[in-house]
Amino acid sequence: MAVIDDLVANNRGFADSLPPRHLDVRPSRRLAIVACMDSRVDVFAALGLRDGEAHVLRNAGGVITDDVIRSLAVSQRRLGTRAVMLIQHTDCGMQKLTDDGFRAELQHDTGIAPAFAIESFTDVEANLRQSILRVRRSAFLPHRDLVRGFVYDVDTHRLSEVEVSD
Ligand SMILES: [Zn+2]
Repeated sequence: MAVIDDLVANNRGFADSLPPRHLDVRPSRRLAIVACMDSRVDVFAALGLRDGEAHVLRNAGGVITDDVIRSLAVSQRRLGTRAVMLIQHTDCGMQKLTDDGFRAELQHDTGIAPAFAIESFTDVEANLRQSILRVRRSAFLPHRDLVRGFVYDVDTHRLSEVEVSD
């Protein structure tokens, strides 16, 4: 896997260029971010974030799944975060498939119907509103008042907030 060898080599240079340090395991901004895995979204650069400041949870679409709720529960209950920032984006890969079509493809190719929801979407703002509501309505999360959702434009790099009337 040459691609991974390249990255391991990059890490040697990265580590050599920095002094050792230890940051607290608890994010200093008391913030968790849920974002899409999209390769064009550099969460740290786009938000001016630094190491040690926030948890960053990423998956296809930046959607709120049971596993994201699991991570947020640990983040809030053990590691001190309070605010949740959701970031989805324009031109998302999850807008280019359908739940039924992708589920059928997986089942056809493997003989196994996936137990997980596919979570495709067409309207990113509507999808963000649903994600915000899933966080706000999760009984496992003690802090649900500071939840905000944003669309990141992958061409202009600009965030725009989605309003939700709960
Ligand atoms: Zn995406």
